[in-house]
Amino acid sequence: MSSIMPTYGSPSISFERGEGVYLYSTEGKKYMDFCSGIAVSALGHGHPHLVNAIKDQAEKVLHFSNLYGIPGQERMAQRLVEETFPSTVFFCNSGAEAVECGLKVVRRYHHEKDNPSRNRVITCTNSFHGRTLATISAAKQEKHMAGFSPMLGGFDQVAFGNLNEMRAMISDETAAILIEPVQGEGGINDASEDYLNKLRETADEFDLLLFLDEVQTGMGRTGKLFSYQWTDIKPDVLAVAKGMGGGFPVGACLASEEVSSSMAPGSHGSTFGGNPLAMAAANAVLDVMLGDGFLDHVQEMSVILHKGLLETAKAHPKILGEVRGQGLLTGVECKGSNTDLVKKLEEEGMLTVAAGNNVVRFIPPLIVETSHIEEAIFLLHHACTDLEN
Ligand SMILES: *Cc1c(COP(=O)(O)O)cnc(C)c1O
Repeated sequence: MSSIMPTYGSPSISFERGEGVYLYSTEGKKYMDFCSGIAVSALGHGHPHLVNAIKDQAEKVLHFSNLYGIPGQERMAQRLVEETFPSTVFFCNSGAEAVECGLKVVRRYHHEKDNPSRNRVITCTNSFHGRTLATISAAKQEKHMAGFSPMLGGFDQVAFGNLNEMRAMISDETAAILIEPVQGEGGINDASEDYLNKLRETADEFDLLLFLDEVQTGMGRTGKLFSYQWTDIKPDVLAVAKGMGGGFPVGACLASEEVSSSMAPGSHGSTFGGNPLAMAAANAVLDVMLGDGFLDHVQEMSVILHKGLLETAKAHPKILGEVRGQGLLTGVECKGSNTDLVKKLEEEGMLTVAAGNNVVRFIPPLIVETSHIEEAIFLLHHACTDLEN
């Protein structure tokens, strides 16, 4: 029996190395990686700039704590702020921690404005914000809450995409609206630009904070550095993680200058958060993403991927349904079971990942090329044909 806590089922494949968009299993089989470690391996596997940055930093110093100044944090924070909105940045190690920091900041902001009763956050159905007690309390997914009561209070929920419900839920106790611009785990559900605009207006009207969870959509995944940059709005609080370290665990919470000025020394912290090694990785990923043409490439590839998925869905109407997503965060609805399709694709030598609403996500590394997408579409075609017979 395995000594690993049984939270992940019993995986049948394991990998020993990766190169670009490919992973090689311990049994020597080559896989096309359209899972990217769940939208993490943004630069693919073994990207030389990232690998060298990690190696160089490892030789200098791994860690010395936030008791001391960490130059890589200053640099990373400044660059993130320049690319987003006037804010300050808290570094952490995961998406859930990034959201957790945002939830604390939101409460603290209203508290410091002498409004401590404004402490409730409105979230949306089918959302996902992580697996800590606060984040499962926020997302209110039955399957994630089962057995873990009592939940943390202070969260109200409305249907994703429904502005009337959102407005009706707002009370004197509401502090913020927390939403994913594209729901990832929930099944690749896009918030329309109009809905996001109206959420911004609504937040301003009622003096609420708009808190975007871009843990999955951020760091170039949608073809912009952040998904909200497809719109004209700006959030007050932003959570990011997954692709940020290209595989090194690192996350961040950005809060507008006004909001983050409610925090003070001692009000939040993390032992590992933003350590020198994490910052070397994050800065290296950002070097590549801010390089000439990187995000254009993501946009170009996404057009090709969407087109291929749409054509394949049309050719296999018994297996595939709607194609959704933004940039290289794409999903296809399944008519049968999504996990069957994921398994079948695995047999074909391609990794994908299931999502809610019976969706299979196709989320390749952002360095994917046309030839890889063509290969992936060919494999999907093949898998669908197999499932039809
Ligand atoms: C993955 C994810 C999280 C949680 O990130 P972890 O690193 O697993 O804690 C939070 N929000 C969204 C939108 C995510 O996709």
